[in-house]
Amino acid sequence: MRPNMQLIDTHCHLTFERLAENIEDVIERAEDAGVTEWITVGTDAGENRKVIELAERFDNLYAAVGIHPHEAKTMTAETVTELIELAQNPKVVAIGETGFDFHYNFSPQSDQKRAFVRQLKIAADFNLPAIIHSREAFDETIDLLDEFGSAVKKIVFHCFTGSPEQARIILDHGWHISFTGAVTFKNAEKIRAAAAIVPLERLMLETDCPYMSPEPMRNQKTNEPALMIHTAKCLAELKQTDLHDFAAATTKTAKNFFNLPSK
Ligand SMILES: [Zn+2]
Ligand SMILES: [Zn+2]
Repeated sequence: MRPNMQLIDTHCHLTFERLAENIEDVIERAEDAGVTEWITVGTDAGENRKVIELAERFDNLYAAVGIHPHEAKTMTAETVTELIELAQNPKVVAIGETGFDFHYNFSPQSDQKRAFVRQLKIAADFNLPAIIHSREAFDETIDLLDEFGSAVKKIVFHCFTGSPEQARIILDHGWHISFTGAVTFKNAEKIRAAAAIVPLERLMLETDCPYMSPEPMRNQKTNEPALMIHTAKCLAELKQTDLHDFAAATTKTAKNFFNLPSK
């Protein structure tokens, strides 16, 4: 029997090969685990076409389209035109992921900024939430959003791994915070301290799969939405909330944030 729970994986990459090749099984295992809706996130022009194609195959699967900071250098006038077109697809619920990744710097920082600013404008123009990827660039991300993000009504910092002080800054701006399996890691005291101060109306869950398998499944090489149940259990315990109540509250938050139809 399927659990009476309806969690939403608000950030996954189901089009990446390891998941895409078994998509029917991945979806079925997720449903069996009580993770019943998913937002699959695009990272470049090719992936953006794929996420929409996949979202059109499954009722409960939605898409976000964007250019990942790693891929920022590939953004051209042409890819922007296509992004704008795809943003109007009915299955698209957000723009992103976009932001800064100064850990890898796979794209020059000037290109990351150019792509970030452009995508905020698209989010504002189409009244869509923006999914922010920020790695080793917290202050720069906040500064850029302060300067260029005011017209974007909803913003989420995805895969948050920062401190309670940083979480406070995000909350004070009125933005949302999303946690991956990283919050379950044994040495993640700082992330758990940050999660402790985020109210459930501002807190969302994600896998960011195929990466970031949560404890106790951390050595499962390919993460998938079904494993998000472990992240939910960890956070529910941290919040001293019954798992079902926690699931209901954070699902409500995600539905409101991404404007998903109620089921
Ligand atoms: Zn990311
Ligand atoms: Zn991602």
